[in-house]
Amino acid sequence: MARDQVQRKRPALGLRAVNERKRLVTSVMICPAKSSMELNPEIAYYVVHFHSHLMTDTEVKAQRHLFATMKATMGRSDEPAQREAQKHKIHSRMLSDEPNVLSLTRDGYERFQLTTAARILRDSADKVLFNYCPRCGKLARTATAKQCRHCGHDWHRTSLT
Ligand SMILES: [Zn+2]
Repeated sequence: MARDQVQRKRPALGLRAVNERKRLVTSVMICPAKSSMELNPEIAYYVVHFHSHLMTDTEVKAQRHLFATMKATMGRSDEPAQREAQKHKIHSRMLSDEPNVLSLTRDGYERFQLTTAARILRDSADKVLFNYCPRCGKLARTATAKQCRHCGHDWHRTSLT
């Protein structure tokens, strides 16, 4: 039975403590080969979204700038959209004019997310937790998900042990 296999598979001690503290499951593991992993928009979203504490101050400002731009322009984030957002009464307050921030936002949000995820994986690979499905091994949608969107496997009950 797949569930029994999952229960027997325990991660290393230190990692288990981290997982318990964050209420993550035993399938969360640190992948040693991560640096060679192919970075796609799905993985970049996961890395940036669930590891924002690993972002630099400049990256945080760049993300805030791009989020404000997308709110002001119905989801656009390219350079013209960023200029347009400067005219927005509310969202313009979150924009940055620092050159090092703007160098990160220049190509829009998707590019920013890829660049930032790559930087995080390069500098803090040991702190990135990937929540893999214990059945099919694919990446779950969130760091705390207990159901796989790829194969439908549900590991809510196995994580209670
Ligand atoms: Zn799965």
